[in-house]
Amino acid sequence: MEYAAPTTVDEARTLLADNPGSRVFAGATDVVPQMRSGRPEPSVLIDLKRIDRLMSVAHDNGHWTIGAAMPTSELTSNGEFASVFPGISEGAGWIGSDQIQNRSSLGGNLCNGSPAADSVPAMIASEARAVIAGTDGERTIPVADVVTGPGQLSLADGEFVVEFEIEDPPARTGDAYIRMTPRTEMDIAIVGAAVRVTMDGDTCTDARVVLGAVAPTAVRVPDAEAALIGSSLDEAALAEVAAAASAAANPINDKRGTIEYRVQVAGVLAKRAAVLAAERACA
Ligand SMILES: Cc1cc2nc3c(=O)[nH]c(=O)nc-3n(C[C@H](O)[C@H](O)[C@H](O)COP(=O)(O)OP(=O)(O)OC[C@H]3O[C@@H](n4cnc5c(N)ncnc54)[C@H](O)[C@@H]3O)c2cc1C
Repeated sequence: MEYAAPTTVDEARTLLADNPGSRVFAGATDVVPQMRSGRPEPSVLIDLKRIDRLMSVAHDNGHWTIGAAMPTSELTSNGEFASVFPGISEGAGWIGSDQIQNRSSLGGNLCNGSPAADSVPAMIASEARAVIAGTDGERTIPVADVVTGPGQLSLADGEFVVEFEIEDPPARTGDAYIRMTPRTEMDIAIVGAAVRVTMDGDTCTDARVVLGAVAPTAVRVPDAEAALIGSSLDEAALAEVAAAASAAANPINDKRGTIEYRVQVAGVLAKRAAVLAAERACA
């Protein structure tokens, strides 16, 4: 296995095109454990962290650009970003430990393709987009369209994520991400719930509800969103949100959580995340 450290997107693109079986990485917090547990080594391991564009965050004219390889610790310590997108920040902030977060990236969290990736549900709730570079140039797609199943991506051979784009939310919008893990630290979510709401007075005018870890990919829950929109997040609406989230959950059964438990927790977390998002929207 060879190691390459390109300094431009074009150089990385050429390395990928010229070396079949090569693979990009950012923090390698998924890649290295996977190779150590027997996954085949790539022909060339391409380090994305030397490319400035992938390592920076910018906010310009209401438009955020977040480098795909930037350490998540830099994003969670960005006070301006955390105040606008507390849910995305808390999702990224759940990844591993401080040591992991000094390496881990949003691009790696998404492109590892885990249904339990903590930063993904809140990114989808804020309609984040992924800018993808490949042999034919660049294209932009919703983050929601990148992962197609566990470990499966819609990216073609030779493509990689350069950065994420997110627009500033409308006034009186708040988001939140809550997860459930069997252990309190250093564990993977058995359910994650992200909610984003926009409020007009006491009334919710827009909502997005996204669950993680309860299906092959993160899933939006349109019935929960419909229950929130037009409501004041009263008990009846929240009960509908919980029921819709539980109904949308199609989790696996394993030693970390039974199907029945995960289905119930999905409803509870969706409801709690909705309340927290609304509190933030109205603060
Ligand atoms: C101890 C420990 C605890 C963890 N805890 C959590 C947790 O609580 N929550 C959680 O969600 N995850 C957790 N993880 C998993 C991991 O840390 C995260 O998924 C992390 O965000 C991966 O980022 P990375 O930059 O290290 O990815 P890498 O390991 O560099 O890459 C991961 C995958 O994505 C691909 N990739 C990377 N960047 C790009 C790109 N820009 N474009 C296309 N493909 C790309 C790589 O080829 C690889 O397939 C944990 C890992 C460890 C070791």
